[in-house]
Amino acid sequence: MRAWVQEAFGGPEVRRLLDVAAPAPGPDEVLVRVLAVALNRLDVLQRSEAVVGGMSVPHIAGMDIVGEVAATGDAVDGDLLGTVALIDPVVSCGRCRMCVDDTPTYCADFATIGSTRDGGMAEYVAVPARNVLPVHVSPQDPEELARIAAVPVSGATAWRGLLGAGGLRSGEVVVIPGAGSGLGAVGVQIALSLGATVITLVSGESKKRRALEAGAHHVIDRTATLDWVAEVQSLTGGEGADMVWDHVGGDFLGASLRATRPGGRVVLSGTTAGLDTRLHLPDLYQPGRSILGHGSYGRADMAAAVAGFTEGRYAVHIDSVWPFEALPEAEARLESNDFFGKIVVLGPGLAPRGEDA
Ligand SMILES: [Zn+2]
Repeated sequence: MRAWVQEAFGGPEVRRLLDVAAPAPGPDEVLVRVLAVALNRLDVLQRSEAVVGGMSVPHIAGMDIVGEVAATGDAVDGDLLGTVALIDPVVSCGRCRMCVDDTPTYCADFATIGSTRDGGMAEYVAVPARNVLPVHVSPQDPEELARIAAVPVSGATAWRGLLGAGGLRSGEVVVIPGAGSGLGAVGVQIALSLGATVITLVSGESKKRRALEAGAHHVIDRTATLDWVAEVQSLTGGEGADMVWDHVGGDFLGASLRATRPGGRVVLSGTTAGLDTRLHLPDLYQPGRSILGHGSYGRADMAAAVAGFTEGRYAVHIDSVWPFEALPEAEARLESNDFFGKIVVLGPGLAPRGEDA
């Protein structure tokens, strides 16, 4: 089969399009013919270095997969053959205490498709049958495939952060930074679907325009303000937001805290701005604010996020759709930060609308 194989750590050149043997599904696994894969930041981060323990080369990236079941292992129901499905990238045993409690990333057998095992940047990928989430989409429609491929990782992560950890409710005000990122854009849509008032932070006039078009109630352009916290205070009548979904971390966390109302909360779900921070502690205890850890999403978050999308309760924004051979260009766009929404690569033989396969 054709596959984008990462042979070392480094720049785009370490991923090459090769002919390799297709994986053989184990007894509890299925072989999936890949139809589309959405890109995630981790794809390019771990091209440069093994940021996740247990990740090694040679490696095939791709965590957000939609595909068609092409073969089933001996212990798997053959009725799955031909099913079009999303793949939950989180692999775990399904039986231990951590799995029963739906905290699969603490399972001793935890692995991630597209990180610590091979992913979907290939014609075929082998995955456990229990990771298959059937969906009703046409395997020939590139736009529909792109939209559904954009859901699993961003959708489940946002669902976990906004609802599972944050308990966001209708009528609350939530601040979502990075509204142009794939994760931020999906988070905005889920927050809107819950009936929350959404304030987003973006960088640049064009992203501000797109965030407003995407339905955010207020958009703060960080390149045009010295103090986004003051702007949040002013937009909320001096009170502050009910919640900030902070997937930035570092020194941003202190600002997130000050942007919430007394009794408000920050859900911390990422550290792209730094692993450590200094906090002015009275900002935390005097107004009775909380900082909540996001945790990893579980199967319930994934199921709820996928159902929310397929039932039409929220939409996803697609930045661009690329043919399989154009993975390097798609990754370059992700690394440029000059995009809005999810970037999707189609499986071999499929072409974006308007192009011949
Ligand atoms: Zn387990």
